[in-house]
Amino acid sequence: MSYAQRPTFAEIDLDAFTRNVSAVVAVLPAGSHLIAVLKADAYGHGAVPLARICESVGVEMIAVALLEEADELRGAGVAVPTLILDPLTEEQTEIALRSGFILGISGPEGLEIVDRIVKRIGLGAHVHLELDSGMGRLGLIDDDLEAAAAILGSNQAIAVDALFSHYACASVHGDPLTGRQTLKFREMCARLAELGVRAPLAHLANSAAVMQGLVSPGDWVRSGLALFGGEALESGSSALEPVMTLRSTIARLKEVEPGSSIGYGSTFVTRCRSRIATVPIGYADGYSRLMSNRGEALVRGCRAPVAGRVSMDLVTLDVTGIPGVAVGDEVVVLGGQGQDRISAEEIAEKMGTIPYEVFCMINSRVPRLYQAKDGSMISGSRVSTRAGETT
Ligand SMILES: *Cc1c(COP(=O)(O)O)cnc(C)c1O
Repeated sequence: MSYAQRPTFAEIDLDAFTRNVSAVVAVLPAGSHLIAVLKADAYGHGAVPLARICESVGVEMIAVALLEEADELRGAGVAVPTLILDPLTEEQTEIALRSGFILGISGPEGLEIVDRIVKRIGLGAHVHLELDSGMGRLGLIDDDLEAAAAILGSNQAIAVDALFSHYACASVHGDPLTGRQTLKFREMCARLAELGVRAPLAHLANSAAVMQGLVSPGDWVRSGLALFGGEALESGSSALEPVMTLRSTIARLKEVEPGSSIGYGSTFVTRCRSRIATVPIGYADGYSRLMSNRGEALVRGCRAPVAGRVSMDLVTLDVTGIPGVAVGDEVVVLGGQGQDRISAEEIAEKMGTIPYEVFCMINSRVPRLYQAKDGSMISGSRVSTRAGETT
C-alpha cells in the first residue's frame, strides 16, 4: 500500500461486485431489469466507484434513498438514471426535479408537492409511484388511490414511469405475507388502471425476493445487499461473493501473566500466560462494542477471540494459541484470510442484528481501498491521502 494512511481499511473487490451484478441479472426472468440500490454509500462500500461499475456493465437504473446521495453520484459524473426512494421536502423535490432525478413518490402529499412544483417551474417530472402492499411504511394505501389518480389525471406533466412496492418478509422463505403482498400490489395496480393511471413498469422484489425467484417476467427488481455478497435469505447460502474485507494490523503485542486484566471494566482476565494483540480498530470505526468478548478476527489464518471490551479506537485479541504472531501481522475483522472467513452474517448474528447494519456501521474513518483489475489499490473518492490529494 503506497498511502501514508492508517493500517485499518476496507478493501473493496470491484471484480467481485461486477460478478455479483452479473449473477443477479442472470437469475432474472425475461424482460426483467436490475435497479442497483446504492443507498447509504452503497451499504458502506462506496457509492461512486460501484455506480461507475454499474454504468460500465449497462445497469439501467440506480436507486438511492436521499437527494444528497443522488447528487453525489451526479457530481462524480455518473449518468445512469437515478431513482430517489425516500420522501423529499418541497425544497428538495424542486432541486431533484431540476436535476432530472426520478422521484419515488410514497404518498399523496409527495404527489401534491410534485404537482405544485411542476406547474410553477414548467418542467416535467418522472416518478415511480409506491403502493403499500403490506409493508406499512411508505406507499399509497387504498384510501389514497382516488386522490392520487385525480392529481395525475389533471397534470399531464407528471409521468408515472413505474408502480412499485416493497416486501416486508421476503427474507423468510415461504412467508405468507409475501404472496399476499404480490396479490395486493396487482389489485392496487388494477384499481389505479380503472382510475386512469397506468405505468409501463412495475417493481417489487428486493434481493431476498430475487433470490427466492419471486420476480414476474418483465418486472424490474431493486437489489442492494446481494450485489455486495450479503446473504438476503435467512436460510440462504447464495453463491454471491463478499465484496468487502475489513483489515487492520497488530500494533502492539504482549505476553502477560495469568490473572492479567484486559481492557475497560476488566471483563477479561487471562487464565494462563497469554499473548494479547492490540489492533487499531474500535467502535468509532463501526466495529461494534457488542463484539466485546464475543467477536473473532483472523490472524495468520486462525481465529483469535476478542479479549475484553472493544474500545473506541482499539480492540484486543487473544492470540495465545496462534504460532508465530508478530507486530504488523495482518488482522482480518470482516472477510477472508487463509481458508477461513468472517462474514457480515456472522458478525450480525453476534450483535443481534442484520448484515445490512454491519456494513452501514463501518464509517468514514475507515478508508475504502478499491482493488483494480491489475491488482493495484485505488483510494476511495471520500478518502484524501496524507499529501492532500483526493483520488
Ligand atoms: C433498501 C431497499 C431495497 C434494497 O433491498 P435489499 O434487501 O438490499 O436488496 C429495495 N427497495 C427499497 C424500497 C429499499 O429501501
